[in-house]
Amino acid sequence: MTTKTCIPFHSTRGNVEPVNLETALARGLAMDGGLYVPERFPRLTAEDFSWPRSLPETAQTLLAPFFACSSLEAQLDQICEEAFNFPVPLRQPEHATWQVLELFHGPTAAFKDVGARFLAQCLDRLQADKLVLVATSGDTGGAVAAAMDECKSLQVAIAYPKGMVSARQEHQLTCWSDSVHACRIDADFDTCQSFVKRAFADAELSTLPLTSANSISIGRLLPQMVYYAHASLDVFHSTGKLARFVIPTGNLGNALAAVWARRIGLPIGEIVLATNANRTISRYWMLGLWSPEATVATLANAMDVSDPSNMERLKHLFPDPSDTVHGIQAASASDRQIADTIVATHQRHYMAICPHTATAVHALSVVRPSDGQDVIVATAHPAKFESIVEPLIGRTIKMPDALAELMERPTSVQDLPADYSAFSRALLDIHPTKT
Ligand SMILES: *Cc1c(COP(=O)(O)O)cnc(C)c1O
Repeated sequence: MTTKTCIPFHSTRGNVEPVNLETALARGLAMDGGLYVPERFPRLTAEDFSWPRSLPETAQTLLAPFFACSSLEAQLDQICEEAFNFPVPLRQPEHATWQVLELFHGPTAAFKDVGARFLAQCLDRLQADKLVLVATSGDTGGAVAAAMDECKSLQVAIAYPKGMVSARQEHQLTCWSDSVHACRIDADFDTCQSFVKRAFADAELSTLPLTSANSISIGRLLPQMVYYAHASLDVFHSTGKLARFVIPTGNLGNALAAVWARRIGLPIGEIVLATNANRTISRYWMLGLWSPEATVATLANAMDVSDPSNMERLKHLFPDPSDTVHGIQAASASDRQIADTIVATHQRHYMAICPHTATAVHALSVVRPSDGQDVIVATAHPAKFESIVEPLIGRTIKMPDALAELMERPTSVQDLPADYSAFSRALLDIHPTKT
C-alpha cells in the first residue's frame, strides 16, 4: 500500500488551524477572514502527463494530489467529467503570432462556468445543504446559478450592482428556478462584495448555512488551473516553448490559477495581467504601491474591481514583493483602447472579441516581448457583449445556442438599497431557519 500525503488548506492570515478540502470547500472563507490556500503545492511536470490526453484526464492528474484523503477522492474522476464537459480549445487566428485560449464554450459563455460547475459538483456530492452567497460584477452570478440550479441540496443568493451589468448578463442572473435569488443592489460591485463578506461574519446570520462561490472559493480556483495546464502542455508539445498567458484580470482569480499551475511545475513562462481602467494592479506593478481607488465602470464590466480579493493569496505566495513582480507583468487598457483593439482585431485577424479579451490583446501590444508562445486568454463570448462589439465591427454576432435558450426564459429579481441591513434581512427571508 502506498502512503498518501494529504494537502491541508490554511488561511492566508494564519490565525486558524488548517482544514481539510471538504471544510475549505464548504466554508468558502476561513474563520479569521482570510482566504484558503493549499499548505504546499504538489510537484508535477510535463512528463507526468502522457500526451495527447483529454481535458478531464488533465484535470484528474492535476487535481488528484489536492483530493488525496478527502471523502471526494473516489469521485474526482466523475466530478472532472461533469465539470469539464465542454471544449476549451486553443486556436491560431489568421495573421497572428499569438494563439487564443477560448474559455467561453460553457453554458453561460464565460470562463466562470468552469469553476462554478466544478464547485457545484463538489458541494452537491458533499450533500452540503448550503445557501451559496455570491457577489457578481457580471458573469460569476450567472455561471454559479447555471451550475447550481439543478443541484437539489443548494440554494443560491446573488448580489449584483444595479445598472452595471449588460442586459444579457442580467438575464442570466435572473432567469432561474425558485432556488436562485437575484438581489439587485443600488451600489457598485465592491459594495456588493463587502455586503457578502460582512454576511459571512454576521452573528445574526450564523443560523444560515452560508457558503461562498466567489472567486475566493478554493473550489473555483483549483479547477481553473486545469485549462492552463492543458493549454501549456499543448503548446509545449507542439512548439517546445513555454506558454505566456495574457489574462484579462478583475478579482485576480483566473490569473492566480495560472500562477499556481506554474508553481506546480507546468510549462508556463511569464504571466501577463491585463486590466481595464481600474488600475490598482498595473499601478502596483509599476510603482510597488497598493492603493485601491473608487471603482470605475468600463466596457469590460466583469473586471470592474478596484480591490481584487485574490491579491491576498498572491502576496501570501510571494511574501517578498520583489518576487511577485518577477515573472509577472501587468498592463491596463482604457475604454478607448478596448474599443480600438476590438476594431483592429476584427480587421487584422477576422476575429470578434469581447471587451475583456480586448484588454489582453491590448496588453500584449505594450508589454516587453518574451521568448515564450503568447496565448491570449479569451474569457467571454463576444455575443454576450453584443451592444458594445456589434456597432464597432459593423456586423451581428451569432449567439451560442445555450445562451440563446437562456434568453427565452422569464426573469425575477429583488431590488435592494445600498444598505447592508436590507440585504441581511433579504437573506433571512430567502432561507428561513429550520427550527
Ligand atoms: C470574471 C471575469 C474576468 C475577470 O476574472 P477574475 O478572476 O475576476 O480576475 C474577466 N473576463 C470575464 C469575461 C469575466 O467574467
